[in-house]
Amino acid sequence: MLDRKILDMKDEIIQSIQKCVQIKSVEEGSKGNMPFGEGVYKALEYSLKLSENLGFNTVNLDNMIGYAEYGQGDEMVAVLGHLDVVPEGDGWKYPPYGGEIHGGKIYGRGTTDDKGPTIGAIYALKAIKDLNIPLNKRVRIIFGTNEETGSNCVKHYVKKGEEIPVAGFTPDSEYPIINGEKGIVTSKYKKVLDSKGDLILKSIRGGIAPNVVPDYAEALIKGEKQKINSIKMLKDKYKDIVIEEKDNEILIKSYGISAHGSTPHKGKNAIMNLILFLNDIDFSLDTNEFLCFMKEYIGLNTDGKSLGINLQDEVSGSFIFNLGTIIGNEEEIAIEMNMRYPVTKKFEDFIDIFKEKMEIGRLQEVYTRHKHSLYVSPDSEFIKKLQKVYEEKTGEKAELICIGGGTYAKAMDNIVAFGPVFKGQPKVEHQPNEYIEIDSLMKSIQIMAAAICELAK
Ligand SMILES: [Zn+2]
Repeated sequence: MLDRKILDMKDEIIQSIQKCVQIKSVEEGSKGNMPFGEGVYKALEYSLKLSENLGFNTVNLDNMIGYAEYGQGDEMVAVLGHLDVVPEGDGWKYPPYGGEIHGGKIYGRGTTDDKGPTIGAIYALKAIKDLNIPLNKRVRIIFGTNEETGSNCVKHYVKKGEEIPVAGFTPDSEYPIINGEKGIVTSKYKKVLDSKGDLILKSIRGGIAPNVVPDYAEALIKGEKQKINSIKMLKDKYKDIVIEEKDNEILIKSYGISAHGSTPHKGKNAIMNLILFLNDIDFSLDTNEFLCFMKEYIGLNTDGKSLGINLQDEVSGSFIFNLGTIIGNEEEIAIEMNMRYPVTKKFEDFIDIFKEKMEIGRLQEVYTRHKHSLYVSPDSEFIKKLQKVYEEKTGEKAELICIGGGTYAKAMDNIVAFGPVFKGQPKVEHQPNEYIEIDSLMKSIQIMAAAICELAK
C-alpha cells in the first residue's frame, strides 16, 4: 500500500526535487536575516512551503534550520536531512543547477547530497499521512542548512531547546546502516625555540591538511661549511631524502606517500621521515629537544602507540593517528595532528594522557577540535528496526558499518546514517555530474516511509 502510494506520487516528487536543486544553496556570508546567505535561505523556505502545501505544520528556527511535523504522541522520531550544497566546481556535462533528467537520472548539485533524499522524506511522510497509517509517535522531517560547513544549523536547534528525537536517521550517507563513527580530534601544538649555535634550522614545512598523510616535507638549514658537509654524509643512512646545497645553506627534501587521514597506514609520512633525518643533526638545545620528542612520542606508527593512547575496541579496531602538517622558522615550530578514536571510546579516555605527553616535549596547545564518537549497539531496538525494514525492502542482509570518518548523524543525538546510496553505486556526492537515479530514489523513499512507520510505532 505504502509503496504503491509513493510510486503514484513519482512525477510530483521528481518535480519538487528539480525545483529545489534549481536553487543554488551554497553557503555565502550572512545577509540580513539570512545567516547562511540567500540561496540557503531560499532552499529552506521552499522546503517548508512545500511541506505546508502537503499538509504539515512547519517551524522555521531563525532561518538556520526548520522542520515539518506530523502526528501525535509524547515522543518524536526524526529524519534529518540538509539543503545546503557544496560549490559545483568544474566538469559538468549538464547544468549543475538545472535538475535535468537524462537516462533515468536527475542531474545537479545536491540531487544525492542531500536534497533528493530530504525532499523524498517529506513525501514518505505524506504517503503515511494520506493512508492514515496509525503511529504512536510524532514525526519530524528536519531541514538542516549548514551541514557542509560546520553543522551550525543543528547546534542552533539544540541551543533553542528544541526536542531531540528518541530515534531517527539521516539519509546523507549510505546503506545499510552506519551504527558506529569514530571520534575525530584535530589538534595544533607549537614549540617556541631559541635557535643559536653552529647549525640553525631556518625553516621547516610540510603537509597540506591535518587529515592527509603528507607526501612532501622540507627543511632549510644554515651553518658553517664544514658542519653543512657533515650533514651531507648522513644522507646515505636515510631513504627518500634529497639534499640541495647552496652557499652556507642546505635544503633537505623528504618524500612520502599520501593517504587519507582515516587510513594513514596506507601512506608514508614525509614529515616524520624528515624529522628522523634531522634528529641525527646537532642543533640548538630547543630544536634537539623537539626533534627527540617527535622521534620518541610520535614516530612512524599510526595507531598512537608511542603516545600511549593506542585505544582499541572490537567493533572498530584501533586508534588512528596522523601527523598532518608542520610549519616553522627559527622562532617556533607548529604541528597539526588528526586523531580518530574507536567508536565505543570517549575523548576523556585519552586526552589527558595526550596532553601530558605534549607537555613532556614542552609543546603548547594552539587549538584542539573534537567531534565525538557515535555508537548505537546492534542489540538496540532502534537498530533492529532499521535492519528489519532494510532487509524486507531489499532482500539483502542489513550489515552494520563502523566508519573512521563522520556523517551528519554526529550532529544530533539518537540519529544514525541510513542511505541513500546503495551498495555498489558510485560515489557522486561533491563530484561533477552529481545525480540520483530515479529508481533508487523511489526505493529509498519507500524504505524511509517503512522505517518511519517502524520507528514511530
Ligand atoms: Zn550531505
